Amino acid sequence: MTADVLIVGAGPTGLAAALELARLGTRPRIIDRLPQPTPFSRAIGVNPRTLELLSPLGLDKVLLSAGHVLPRLNLRTPDRLVATVDFTRLHHQFNHLLALAQSDTERLLTERLAQEGIDVERGVELLSFTQDATGVTASLRNGDRESDVRSAYMLGADGSHSPVRTGLGIAMPGRTYEQPWSLADIRGEWPFERAAVQLIAQPGRAFLAFPFGVDLLRVVSSKGNVLEQLPPGTQVQEVVWHSEFKISARLADTYGRGRVYLAGDAAHLHSPVGARGMNLGIEDGILFARKLASGQLDTYRSDRRAVASHVVRLTEVQTRLVTTAVPLLRGVRDRMLPLALSLPPVRDVILREVSGLRSVRQGA
Ligand SMILES: Cc1cc2nc3c(=O)[nH]c(=O)nc-3n(C[C@H](O)[C@H](O)[C@H](O)COP(=O)(O)OP(=O)(O)OC[C@H]3O[C@@H](n4cnc5c(N)ncnc54)[C@H](O)[C@@H]3O)c2cc1C
Repeated sequence: MTADVLIVGAGPTGLAAALELARLGTRPRIIDRLPQPTPFSRAIGVNPRTLELLSPLGLDKVLLSAGHVLPRLNLRTPDRLVATVDFTRLHHQFNHLLALAQSDTERLLTERLAQEGIDVERGVELLSFTQDATGVTASLRNGDRESDVRSAYMLGADGSHSPVRTGLGIAMPGRTYEQPWSLADIRGEWPFERAAVQLIAQPGRAFLAFPFGVDLLRVVSSKGNVLEQLPPGTQVQEVVWHSEFKISARLADTYGRGRVYLAGDAAHLHSPVGARGMNLGIEDGILFARKLASGQLDTYRSDRRAVASHVVRLTEVQTRLVTTAVPLLRGVRDRMLPLALSLPPVRDVILREVSGLRSVRQGA
């Protein structure tokens, strides 16, 4: 069987690429080795740039009606509110963050894709591939059956361990931090408003809380068990999910070779501070489709790598700033941020950066 584009991986990146390809007239095949989507939700934050990119598909409205709008992000220390990033001051149609479980985002994208007559082929694994001047031949396994599929292009949206990236021999230098982070989704009473993300910076660690759903809260800590660090006044009725993860700061040397391209976590990894991972992956997927449709695929790799390089570096700085134990750095951060946010031109830059809108010129 042949396809114009074979997408490996039906996470948010692969789904976004498939949807945009279909909208622009190319019929992709999309496979995922998992027989079912994972029910656990890594990402919670959908940023304005993602809503903007999904709006030609009508998915902005679909996501908005399913999610929880968050107009503010509060940076706190344990004893006080240091600064508020107020997204309502952003000059943009989507002037807020949106909290929506990644599993729900993936479900809504998958349903929209099915409306285009394209189903994710689940339980289908990429085993290996070769390429020549006219296309890519991918070897797939579906249960006991193995088959070859020929496509003009292949997109590796196959996550951090990316068999596609490995198959191309592309390195992804950077570092993975030893210290695990802890996360939990809890149901219960919370001493802060539900319309804001709370980022509580303590000496040597950061605590993040994202309200989502009707009555859920995603809490994350960069050190130690997050459930032992809940602010006074929190009453937990149910722990829905509790897990640990390690953070990395990594960038692929190049976004593919020949007719094979990389997107999403297959090409870049960074900490969840800034909530950019899934959003950047969706942006990669959509821009891959747009560049293919407009005959500009030759600029995809350098454009997207430049954007991700900026995000990986910025996320490193943000993560250090909120987790630092150095009193001098903490003092500078707690004085400079409110000052920066009080100056309209600087505030605009910060708002556009946090919203994912600052890189638009480079990769659009
Ligand atoms: C705790 C945590 C919190 C996070 N919070 C946020 C947040 O708030 N905002 C944000 O933007 N990001 C966040 N992220 C990051 C986000 O979850 C990822 O960036 C995102 O899932 C990447 O999507 P992807 O589609 O590129 O890869 P994945 O979601 O990893 O999908 C890759 C898919 O490829 C499939 N696959 C792999 N190998 C094969 C193969 N050989 N054949 C077929 N299929 C294959 C896999 O089964 C998988 O379904 C967070 C991450 C973590 C860990």
